[in-house]
Amino acid sequence: MKKKNLFYQFFGVHILILIAAISFATYYTWFAMREAFNRQWLQELDIQTRVAATVLLDADGALDETAVSRFFAQAGDAFEHRFTLVRPDGKVLGDTEANAASMDSHADRPEIQEALKNGTSVQRRYSTSLGKSMLYLAHRVPAEGPAAAVVRVAVPEFALMREIAASGRTLLVLVTLVIAAAVGMGYVASLRIIGPVSALQSGLRRIGDGELTFRLAVPAVPHLAELAKSINQTADRIAKQIHDLAEERNLRTLILANMARGVIAADVTHTVKDINAAARNMTGFHAPLTPATRIGEVIRHPDLLRLIDDCERAQEPIERETTIGPDGEMTVTARVTPLNDTHGQSMGTLIIINDVTHLRKLETVRQDFVANVSHELRTPITSIKGFAETLLDGAKDDPATAERFLTIITRQANQLEAIIHDLLDLSRLEQNSAQGIEKAPAPLAAILRNAAGLCQDRANARGIRLNVTCDPALTPPLHAGLIEQALVNLIDNAIKYGATPERPQVDITATATSGAAEIRVRDHGNGIDKPHLDRLFERFYRVDKGRSREMGGTGLGLAIVKHITLVHGGTVTVESDPARGTTFTLHLPFALAME
Ligand code: ADP
Repeated sequence: MKKKNLFYQFFGVHILILIAAISFATYYTWFAMREAFNRQWLQELDIQTRVAATVLLDADGALDETAVSRFFAQAGDAFEHRFTLVRPDGKVLGDTEANAASMDSHADRPEIQEALKNGTSVQRRYSTSLGKSMLYLAHRVPAEGPAAAVVRVAVPEFALMREIAASGRTLLVLVTLVIAAAVGMGYVASLRIIGPVSALQSGLRRIGDGELTFRLAVPAVPHLAELAKSINQTADRIAKQIHDLAEERNLRTLILANMARGVIAADVTHTVKDINAAARNMTGFHAPLTPATRIGEVIRHPDLLRLIDDCERAQEPIERETTIGPDGEMTVTARVTPLNDTHGQSMGTLIIINDVTHLRKLETVRQDFVANVSHELRTPITSIKGFAETLLDGAKDDPATAERFLTIITRQANQLEAIIHDLLDLSRLEQNSAQGIEKAPAPLAAILRNAAGLCQDRANARGIRLNVTCDPALTPPLHAGLIEQALVNLIDNAIKYGATPERPQVDITATATSGAAEIRVRDHGNGIDKPHLDRLFERFYRVDKGRSREMGGTGLGLAIVKHITLVHGGTVTVESDPARGTTFTLHLPFALAME
């Protein structure tokens, strides 16, 4: 439709101009041609009239009666036009087409009057006697001296028009042919230009609509070809720029989306312009952003909102630690920075939220641990110091008391050593969990037997039987030394806390499924109360402090077991039942196929 419009606009204007120009030229030609005809006719009539006058006059310039009667008797056939001879008083003396005697006076005829006055007259008028428009040309004879008569020649106007019309028809045919040829050529030329222009126009529209891979076909018309080429080059440049911008934007979005810190950008009207996934998780705002999303809808924590206000007032970055979340369970440090453009004009605010809950928890754990360690170390040291001082104060003089005190001091020193030993083990394991341990396929049955062997004396001392059950073919990849240490801790606990005289037995078993080994240490004691089970693997946690100390426990044994399983990528669980005793299970996954 548009193509048609463009074509007809172009072609229509072209044709209108052409027709106007040809019409003007035709009109002018026709007008000039008619004038030339008229002039030619008048000239011819003038000559004929003068010839007739010469014939009709004698040598003195008077009318020659004989010549007059001969002329009008014969001239009717010889002359194509009508000749009339009129006396100055209006009497008609002769006429080539009518009987002069019966003709009325011509004294009132304007051409006769004018010829008598001026010598010559040309008149166009309607002839009442003939009933048609006529052209009259009259001459007074003789031209000089008193008038003898007036010779008049008359031509019907239609005779004149007939010849002009014949020439006009030829002109019309020629003009029609010229217009037809011009329209035809104009049509072809318009098609040649408008076709490529329309193609350029629709191509440009496609590129403008976002079809950036579309390129214009280069037309044969030279100027349009240049235009199409430069449009294609511009489209290439725009496509590249859009591609680069999109990549940059994608990268920015990716970086923002994958940042652990929450990022929120707001403009000066507090409309949120951007928010990343971390900030959504921290604030709990998951609705899509709209132009109407205000910062107060996203951040609902008064402390953070106050921080934004403070930053806007101070116009400098402010950082503060606060708690967020429904129950204030998340500790965050929020840094609010004013965003200014290159002219220092404020564009909004950038809020960066860093979740430090885990860090703060770790700090608390570390502080608790230091407090616990100090407490655990202080107990045996106080005891050693107290008994040593009592000995120095005189108790050493009594050998029995001295021996008892020295035995206590030795036990407390051992306890101290055991605590330091376990702490060092834990610290080494923490280092290992960061660096990773070296695992190798190891015969599980041998590890179980070694661990049981190391506890055998203590078991014998209490009359407890250690049962080891393991398929000798099991060789999962693990760190044999660490697993043995974990088993010793578990078997030792089972001997110390789990075995009862009624069921003096500890079962140590190992099985393997595809991808994991499971080692169980089970006693048949009175079990552990449920509330303790969750905290059992914490450092220095004991169910019965007194009993543990009495048994020489450090409160670190199970924490060490937990770390050993962790460095193997595994887990340790405990099940306890007062009627059936306690079972600790090490679940150790591995990726290698067992050999
Ligand atoms: P401890 O050096 O005191 O033995 P552990 O970390 O090895 O420290 O054990 C923590 C506490 O768990 C022990 O003090 C004891 O109260 C309890 N416990 C551990 N193993 C058993 C068990 N098999 N039966 C009952 N209680 C146990």
